[in-house]
Amino acid sequence: MVNDRYNFLDEGLEERRSNHQFRSLSAVDPVEGKMRVQSEGSIYIDFSSNDYLGLATHPNVKERAVAYTQKYGAGSTASRLISGTRTIHTQLEKNLAEALGREAALLFNTGFQANSSLLGSLTDRHSLILADKLSHNSLLQGSLSSRAEFQRFRHNNMDHLEQLLQKASASNYSRIWIVTETIFSMDGNRSPLDKILSLANEFGALLFVDDAHAVGVWGPNGMGLASNNETVDILLGTCGKAFGSFGAYVGCSKKMKDYLVNFCPGFIYTTAPPPSVVGATQAALELIPTLDEERQAFHKRIENFRDRVQQLGFKTAGSSQIVPIIIGDEKKTLDLASWLQDSGLLATAIRPPTVPAKSSRIRITLSMKHTPQQIEKLLNALAEWKNEQS
Ligand SMILES: *Cc1c(COP(=O)(O)O)cnc(C)c1O
Repeated sequence: MVNDRYNFLDEGLEERRSNHQFRSLSAVDPVEGKMRVQSEGSIYIDFSSNDYLGLATHPNVKERAVAYTQKYGAGSTASRLISGTRTIHTQLEKNLAEALGREAALLFNTGFQANSSLLGSLTDRHSLILADKLSHNSLLQGSLSSRAEFQRFRHNNMDHLEQLLQKASASNYSRIWIVTETIFSMDGNRSPLDKILSLANEFGALLFVDDAHAVGVWGPNGMGLASNNETVDILLGTCGKAFGSFGAYVGCSKKMKDYLVNFCPGFIYTTAPPPSVVGATQAALELIPTLDEERQAFHKRIENFRDRVQQLGFKTAGSSQIVPIIIGDEKKTLDLASWLQDSGLLATAIRPPTVPAKSSRIRITLSMKHTPQQIEKLLNALAEWKNEQS
């Protein structure tokens, strides 16, 4: 039935359309000025960006990207182990390791690439991976493509994790990896990292922590919630969010780095990160520790925003710059998203299957660069929508 070989495309797309889950791409360009974007002729305040510190358009960051391009070219011309390692890669890795309080750091092209290939190289068919149920899709891909046994513990449920560890310790696994995040991307809430650290120590498990949403915003010098801790065997951070750049890194021991350089396919079989990206990341890394005062003020604005959203009668959650406004019903959530858009505010509606049924939400991400007026505008629009509902 040669003629039917594209049927799967129609069937898949039709299924998405009939479930109101069809998605498509639209272009959103930056506009000069704080956190403003332009799409199809209209200008919006962007409340859905991961540019938490506004560094994507910071002059130092842009200038360094250009300077490194001028000096080292547009591309890195080879993979790291062949001839693609430049002094700017090794310098950035050295600076990252220092900033993270770890012996070593290793660059990856993206967080997705790192997460989807690390666990396969760190396990064998006799290993066990225990991952938080709400871990990022890239960690799920990495776990599923490894040859290890894979189990998920209930979200942030330390009793469940302990139970699984207890059960596993009676078996003969070659090693056990605990996989979690510090701040979860859809709820903006945190994991009980202290408890996870002590369970890892108690059961002799290895620990993989994805710090993507904390880096730049939280922790000592803004270097995340899991830095300066040797119990974290793999500390994954990304540079596409608060760094305003692109790519990812692992903070780890020197021995772990040597191992990954030799065994991790997502590091080995890919072109080295381009000079522009290395330059932007290097400049952002120099800026982030200097922003302590701004960060503290930002933390207060986040807390204040979440309180005010609650006072308006909305259900919210989390304890970070990611503030979900949980509506529940999918259609109502879409209605609020378009209400906000009509008011010149860009915020994403997140629906199942990305989040559990009946927990559709508007996901607000705050940036240090949002002005008080912009946040006030968002709160006013939320209040007006709420009034309209009653
Ligand atoms: C964004 C994100 C990633 C992926 O990082 P990229 O560099 O964008 O590929 C991985 N893990 C978490 C938790 C993330 O939020």
